[in-house]
Amino acid sequence: MPFERRGGFNSAPREMHKVVCSECKQECEVPFKPSGDRPVFCRDCFQKHKKF
Ligand SMILES: [Zn+2]
Repeated sequence: MPFERRGGFNSAPREMHKVVCSECKQECEVPFKPSGDRPVFCRDCFQKHKKF
């Protein structure tokens, strides 16, 4: 992990999962585990869908 930081107040590890966005097909990481049978969106597309 090249970006690992030890110590500090922001040391809580956040598990990220690599996914391919269902809309723009870009590889991205989400802080939750993708269920597999549901589309996963990157942050941008997620915001877009949230508005609908
Ligand atoms: Zn996307």
